[in-house]
Amino acid sequence: MEKISTAEFEIMRAIWSNEPIHTKDIITILKATHDWSDSTIKTLLARLVNKGVVGISKNGNKFQYYSTFDKTKYVEHEMYTLLSKVCNKTKMQVLIDMISSINMSEEDYRTLSTLLSEKQTSKIECDCPKGLCNEKI
Ligand SMILES: [Zn+2]
Repeated sequence: MEKISTAEFEIMRAIWSNEPIHTKDIITILKATHDWSDSTIKTLLARLVNKGVVGISKNGNKFQYYSTFDKTKYVEHEMYTLLSKVCNKTKMQVLIDMISSINMSEEDYRTLSTLLSEKQTSKIECDCPKGLCNEKI
């Protein structure tokens, strides 16, 4: 999957929320929340088009943009990329930190409770390549 910078991700959010969307509308949305110039936004947009993650279609004489991949899949991919960088023994702490930082609905709570009772295990083994673990074993 193509790597997308934090700034490029902001452009993607505007596209995902409004696609298909014209350049001027992307600019209006992002200028309301970021201190970016028109040319910065157009440059970021062009990079996303070059990466193939944003497509262009023509509506009359105006260009409009659409995403070529699903936001949920991308976020999932990023989460697995993050978790692959830490030891099996640390993964749960990463998730606990994430959960601590958000609020959840009653339905989320029930789903998570069920999942937690199914996933409980007595021992977690390190899965790091030799010499790359900083967990105290
Ligand atoms: Zn490890």
